[in-house]
Amino acid sequence: VIRIESVSKNFGSFEVLKNVSSTVHASEVIVLCGLSGSGKSTLIRTISALEPIREGKIIVDGVDVHARGTDANLLRRGIGFVFQSFNLFPHLSALDNVAIGLRRLMKLSKGEAHRRSHLLLERVGLSHRAAYMPADLSGGEQQRVAIARALSMQPKVMLFDEPTSALDPEMVGEVLKVIKDLSAEGMTMICVTHEMNFAREVADWIWLMEAGEIIEKARPAEFFENPQHASARRFVQSHL
Ligand code: ATP
Ligand code: MG
Repeated sequence: VIRIESVSKNFGSFEVLKNVSSTVHASEVIVLCGLSGSGKSTLIRTISALEPIREGKIIVDGVDVHARGTDANLLRRGIGFVFQSFNLFPHLSALDNVAIGLRRLMKLSKGEAHRRSHLLLERVGLSHRAAYMPADLSGGEQQRVAIARALSMQPKVMLFDEPTSALDPEMVGEVLKVIKDLSAEGMTMICVTHEMNFAREVADWIWLMEAGEIIEKARPAEFFENPQHASARRFVQSHL
């Protein structure tokens, strides 16, 4: 579903992605990890066309993301993106935050948009919070609304950039559970996270980035028990 082919990217003279190639098959869950500044956010942002690339190619669901003529807005609807900060519209209720894309982009009637939004809130365990404003929701609840909003566009893939790192510890589990449920339903996902227990349990593959390269791609068991690269061994030891 996602093919990354020899992608390079610079910020000025700084090479943030160095000839990165990788593939994500349908229904796979990739956990992307690595030290701060290694290029994780940049990589997933290039997949959803939030950042341009200098060289290479990224294909998502058959669409060449960075080709001239690709409608970036249309493309982004097919790719759900969930950020560390929840980015909800503060003046809209939880329900309307989910419904807004259905109404504005999918042009659904108010009734139909609300019906679907209720189902989506139910899916993330928040039907009882539909009328709440973001400010009255906990961080974990806000992040689950953000996930429901991303799902409203029926994305082919979901990208998560440290979805739990802005949360108080007691709320991390409820958000990870929603992501885990999505994985069980067969959603294709790349999740940047430092939650190594989640990685061990849910990932099909773990990719480790260092200085703009994916230096290790392994099944979780192999990644944790027998990492190949010396930096991967150090990473695993410091995250146990
Ligand atoms: P973290 O774990 O801290 O989120 P990361 O692996 O997501 O790190 P990136 O955000 O992808 O790292 O950044 C990789 C490098 O690129 C960093 O050194 C960062 O300073 C640099 N960088 C990121 N965005 C820009 C930008 N817009 N302009 C210039 N440099 C940038
Ligand atoms: Mg980042």
